[in-house]
Amino acid sequence: MKVIKKGCDNPDFGKDLTCMGSGLGKGVGGCGAVLHVVPADVSNNLSTGGEAHWFTCPECGAKTFVTWRTFS
Ligand SMILES: [Zn+2]
Repeated sequence: MKVIKKGCDNPDFGKDLTCMGSGLGKGVGGCGAVLHVVPADVSNNLSTGGEAHWFTCPECGAKTFVTWRTFS
């Protein structure tokens, strides 16, 4: 994952999402960074029976939950 700058490459792949810190662990509340998140950046707990997807902010380490519909 990378922090968005002007003129970022591959603007059509992935989404620009804001660090909201909507989830687990440290960084609840997020830092408000705008991040270019691609599907490969998204973690999930499907293997343990969960249904959650999230990305982790490289700036503050907060987790923000997303859905796959975000990328469709
Ligand atoms: Zn953040």
